[in-house]
Amino acid sequence: MIYTLGIDIGSTTSKCIVLEDGKEIKGSSIITGGAGTKFPLKAFEMVLNNANITMEDLSEIVATGYGRGTFTQTDSQMSELSCHAKGVHFTCPNARTIIDIGGQDVKVISINDQGRMLNFLMNDKCAAGTGRFLDVMANILQLDIKDLEQEAAKSTRSVNISNTCTVFAESEVISQLSAGVEIEDLVAGICESVAKRVGSLAKRIGIKEIVFMSGGVAQNGGVRKALENVLKTEIIFTKDAQLMGALGAALFAYDKTIKNIKEAISCQK
Ligand code: ADP
Repeated sequence: MIYTLGIDIGSTTSKCIVLEDGKEIKGSSIITGGAGTKFPLKAFEMVLNNANITMEDLSEIVATGYGRGTFTQTDSQMSELSCHAKGVHFTCPNARTIIDIGGQDVKVISINDQGRMLNFLMNDKCAAGTGRFLDVMANILQLDIKDLEQEAAKSTRSVNISNTCTVFAESEVISQLSAGVEIEDLVAGICESVAKRVGSLAKRIGIKEIVFMSGGVAQNGGVRKALENVLKTEIIFTKDAQLMGALGAALFAYDKTIKNIKEAISCQK
């Protein structure tokens, strides 16, 4: 058996995957707490436990994500863009566009039929359209981030949030709340605001079907549905959407292991 590990150290969350023989997911972990905290190491220990292996069983460890340079247990690093492309291609080989909404940035990646990145666009300058925007809004509304989907689904009259800037949108939501607007209508408007922002980035790169959503925000059905309306296309996601970067890193770690084995064999000949 060959075990490889991918760790994605994000701005808000640490994610790990252990792969067996480059094919089967043996374990995974997701812990809130990202770069610069103790949580990447916790996620690492947790995934080993989850896969029922020890560090000595691992052939290769690849780190990705915003905090990839800070993790000392790793053998090498790969960019988030390449890892998301590889992880999504493994999960959904027909995907040609990836929309990754994380805690602090948004990436739209165009990939070919081999899972190689062709082009990308990124917004990492502003919290609008990112998980951070949703986290701030959930906090004001005293909701758990997981509840936004359910609230948005109840809405019959979504409220337009006119400010894209998180700070101004926060004040806007507070004044709508005090004016008696229903929470579900505000949540639907918040999800639509993210979708409009991300949708315009996606349209700039050009949408090719199948569109796959990765990153933590993919779990929010309110954002997914609003984005489908903006882009007028179906958006695919899986329950492991937040783990796509870690999965890609574990796959790169497997490729590296195989390359090393082949090189060792050719040296012996
Ligand atoms: P990063 O890699 O930048 O840390 P992630 O891709 O892990 O970001 O996504 C983190 C974001 O995902 C959080 O900011 C949060 O808004 C969102 N999120 C996490 N879990 C859920 C969930 N169960 N439902 C909806 N949104 C979620």
